[in-house]
Amino acid sequence: MAKSKEEKVLSTLWSAGCGSHGGCGCEIFVKDGKVTRVEGDPNHPFNQGRLCAKGLALPQYMYHPDRVTHPLKRVGERGEGKWKQITWDEAYDTIETKLKDIRSKYGAESVIFCQGTGRDIGGAITFLMYAYGSPNWVQVGLAGHACYTPRLGAMYATHGHYAVADCSQFLEKRFEDPEYVLPKYIIIWAQNPSAGCHDGFYGHWIIDCMKRGSKLIVIDPRSTWFSSRAEVHIQNRPGTDGIIALAMLNVIINEGLYDKEFVKKWCYGFEELKKRVQEYPPEKAEEISWVPADLIRKAARLYANNKPSAIQWGEPVDAMPAGSVVSQAINHLWAITGNIDNPGGNVIARNSHGVTTYPFSSAELTELYGADLVKRLNEKRIGANDYPMIKGFRGWVQPDVLIEQMETGKPYPVKAAWIQTSNIIGGQAADPRRHYNAMKKLDFIVCVDIFQNPTTMALADIFLPVCTICERDSFRSWWQPLGVSVKAVDEVGESKSDWDINLEMAKRLATTPIKFNTVREIFDDRLKVGNTNFEKLKAKGGWEFPPKGDKTRPYYRYEKGLLRADGKPGFDTPTGKVELYAKRFEEWGLDPLPYYEEPKEGPVSTPDLFKKYPLILTTGRRSPVFFHSEHRMVPWLRELDPDPVIEINDKTAADIGVANGEWVYVENPRGKIKMRAKVTPTSHPKVVTVPHAWWLPETDGKAPNLFSTWDHNVNNLTSMGNQGKSGFGGTNLRSNICRVAKIKD
Ligand code: SF4
Repeated sequence: MAKSKEEKVLSTLWSAGCGSHGGCGCEIFVKDGKVTRVEGDPNHPFNQGRLCAKGLALPQYMYHPDRVTHPLKRVGERGEGKWKQITWDEAYDTIETKLKDIRSKYGAESVIFCQGTGRDIGGAITFLMYAYGSPNWVQVGLAGHACYTPRLGAMYATHGHYAVADCSQFLEKRFEDPEYVLPKYIIIWAQNPSAGCHDGFYGHWIIDCMKRGSKLIVIDPRSTWFSSRAEVHIQNRPGTDGIIALAMLNVIINEGLYDKEFVKKWCYGFEELKKRVQEYPPEKAEEISWVPADLIRKAARLYANNKPSAIQWGEPVDAMPAGSVVSQAINHLWAITGNIDNPGGNVIARNSHGVTTYPFSSAELTELYGADLVKRLNEKRIGANDYPMIKGFRGWVQPDVLIEQMETGKPYPVKAAWIQTSNIIGGQAADPRRHYNAMKKLDFIVCVDIFQNPTTMALADIFLPVCTICERDSFRSWWQPLGVSVKAVDEVGESKSDWDINLEMAKRLATTPIKFNTVREIFDDRLKVGNTNFEKLKAKGGWEFPPKGDKTRPYYRYEKGLLRADGKPGFDTPTGKVELYAKRFEEWGLDPLPYYEEPKEGPVSTPDLFKKYPLILTTGRRSPVFFHSEHRMVPWLRELDPDPVIEINDKTAADIGVANGEWVYVENPRGKIKMRAKVTPTSHPKVVTVPHAWWLPETDGKAPNLFSTWDHNVNNLTSMGNQGKSGFGGTNLRSNICRVAKIKD
């Protein structure tokens, strides 16, 4: 470590600090063993020197006085806030004894392994979970897996891989690469991409395309920077994205605007899709979605007539009971226009060099651990027997089934939780009170985190302090390039890396010996399929694109036999084609074709209730300076976004007597929270938007206050149990209802 001269370390950001999924290349400056500043790496093709506020504020996050830097043991009642500092040995010994005891009495499945979306945690947590023998890996309370998984599931069923808008991010030379073609149009569907790096995708990539001539179509109930620059802004009623997509398919098919050659050669089930979309003419969509039929026609024609064009979508697409179906309909737009794996279309995104940090799909688990293990896991995995898509696609627990099982103890009891990078009560869960009540009753809970938060304070028996991205090595293979995060300074206090903690616990808890002695051995084992290792990547400056001809590089891999395991041309689906009629959905007992399903609450489903709660509440508006529930304690970031803010239309605000900056109650049948009003014409008059996961780290952390999470976290107004037929559809996160009233006192 540097002693006095400033040293620069090249690294890759991925959470545990800046949060998020982006993977910005960065320069970490170190002096006297401390990080003094973090800047964007100008040579990294992803971000080209840019860094968002979260990355820039990393030193404030790392050296924050409230950071937990020693293992803690709870000494009072849960939530009392009484902790005792203990040694790592005592922490490890206690956890080992408790978890072995629970396993011998109730089975390994009675312990759930819970993660959020922060940090590069998937690999470390599943590694530990499989060693312990539990099948129950979960994002607790993420109702219906309402984040990316519905989209991933739909794409897997339709064409076998996932695809993203091509802004040249898969090419080292970016826009200068001769293979690249700029999208003529980019549809931004239900996302404000400048407010973060959602799903590893940057808003500045779209802006770079716009500067070069790409035009925009924005589908978003809220006006954004992007919608103000769009050729078409479709301001739909929240939750009606499915019918917009179906109506666009109707126009493209009936007007013959689809790519006939591509459809004939590479698509399966076109006639069935054609028949289905006749049920969704634009006029019907207009009635349901508030969007003029002609505007839908215009968007469909612009997109289909201008090839290549791309679609970039966001989490609201998932957050409805039919989330996987809505995703399927949108997916079909790029399929029938032949905008798949073509330059400037929706390019198939594969992990760089074929490296994965963790096995999340049933297919990869089978490859790694064998079919027997997958079969055994599926027998006990919570929700797998209720939802075939859980079994067949992704190895998660179904969160809506989990909460019921925690409450009833059926078919078997949940006894303990290992919670790593997840603020369940203060950020992740819908209906957090219900989760709080259920989880309080568990026999034993370990939390592995950086700061105390509502969840750790409410639930932890043992708190293990974890270090940030600058204090540990890691690697990132999500899309491309393959990158490494490099340890720039020693761990702060006694904190350790997630991987160090989980390897130690895996050695202690495994039922069969762990073959790795060090974390570096695990990394190099994962990296070897890419013909590289950690040191090689580090020596190259921290990242590397796959070589030419590698099957993880674009384009047109379906023509070259680079997508299927058997090496034949085509897509990785049962028919080898893009399945507009999805055989996998059929096999899982689901409708193989897309359809529209109305949100559970609102003017159509619950008109009487809507009279009482006449505004549509969209939760989860992203802040550019916070990642979910993280960062509220970081001074620079909090200064930029100090309060939980509800955006409300100026005329609507005038009608209910609310002025800009005033505090209001936001209320619905599930509860009431307090927010500060931002009165703005950019909001739709019938829609209010609020950020999720607010808590106030400066207030009392002890129960019942729990850092004011019950007062400000809009998740308290959401519910579980709307997961749709697949189990992969979200709850009412974007299409809730509410009323807003000024707080008089
Ligand atoms: S949070 Fe900011 S700094 Fe971190 S990866 Fe995303 S864009 Fe980059």
